[in-house]
Amino acid sequence: MSNSSPDITIVGAGITGAAAAYRLSQLGVRAEVYETSLIPGGRMARFELSGVVFDHGAQFFTTRSSEFQSLVGDAANDGAAQVWTHGFGDTPDGYERWRGVPDMTALADWLLRKSEATVHLGESVEDLRHIDTPGIILTAPIPVSLSLATTSGFKPPSNILDQLESVEYKRTVAVLLVLNQQPLAMPPMGGIQLIDDPCLAFITDNQAKGVSSIPALTIHLSNEASLDLWDQPDEIIVEFALKKVGAHIGDVDAGDHSVTRWRYAGPVDVIPEFSVVWNEQPTLVMAGEAFNGPKVEGAFNSGIDAANKVVECVS
Ligand SMILES: Cc1cc2nc3c(=O)[nH]c(=O)nc-3n(C[C@H](O)[C@H](O)[C@H](O)COP(=O)(O)OP(=O)(O)OC[C@H]3O[C@@H](n4cnc5c(N)ncnc54)[C@H](O)[C@@H]3O)c2cc1C
Repeated sequence: MSNSSPDITIVGAGITGAAAAYRLSQLGVRAEVYETSLIPGGRMARFELSGVVFDHGAQFFTTRSSEFQSLVGDAANDGAAQVWTHGFGDTPDGYERWRGVPDMTALADWLLRKSEATVHLGESVEDLRHIDTPGIILTAPIPVSLSLATTSGFKPPSNILDQLESVEYKRTVAVLLVLNQQPLAMPPMGGIQLIDDPCLAFITDNQAKGVSSIPALTIHLSNEASLDLWDQPDEIIVEFALKKVGAHIGDVDAGDHSVTRWRYAGPVDVIPEFSVVWNEQPTLVMAGEAFNGPKVEGAFNSGIDAANKVVECVS
């Protein structure tokens, strides 16, 4: 591969794209990463409201595979990750739940710095035909990547297309609240996971978690409630969240608020392969959390696989 120009382009600097960049660097391949947002992390997102920082999307990640465990250990040694808790129930279940430090964007940021890839933040890829590397890795949610590939004239063959089009995504509405005082009944580590609750899925106090300097709640509605309330005005959604959160942590005294509708919160079912490849010039690889395993760890594994495959194809 060439010494002067990048060999592989990665679209997206979430955990999938960052993992791919990291593996490419291990393989001695130069990568160029394009990211629409001004910060990396994708759905491992941060949000600032009135100067207060929130973990906005993913709240924690697991490290089940030995490769991810070892890498997250290295990130922790560099101060970019730490164990948040060993369980959200009354008694710890022993499994580590990790968080980024200072916030959830830190892991992707750390991987990108380690990879020494050229990263273009705030630059959206609109047409893949303008990219001149022999390989491209697409990491946005499948419908977004598929639309980009198709409008660029690189529609996948019908067997791959059918597979990609079959993936559906759950939605999550997130409500962010700046609080005027600490919530009454929040666990000291600052997280409540609600597995079977019909209304809420997660409540985080970003101050207790160590993300913000004052009490600030991230409330994720359940997928069912998110679907029901999706088209409602923000004020109705905030009222709903305040009422439901009160049942878990007592009434809260809220100031500023913000509502986000995450259209792609997670796949309903995943595609069995870790990533898919088509086309020859350029080779296209699609990867992300909807391949093989969902969530942050699944996305990481998919990014690693995509990097391995693209190098195999273009070498
Ligand atoms: C509300 C919510 C809560 C969640 N909670 C958890 C949790 O607690 N634990 C967990 O493990 N997982 C959780 N997840 C899932 C987890 O966040 C995702 O699985 C993971 O972050 C996906 O990473 P990714 O890199 O595949 O995709 P993304 O993070 O979406 O990254 C794709 C990136 O591509 C960029 N992009 C898209 N199009 C273009 C373009 N044309 N040009 C340039 N850039 C582009 C996007 O801006 C984005 O940054 C949650 C998700 C949401 C939304």
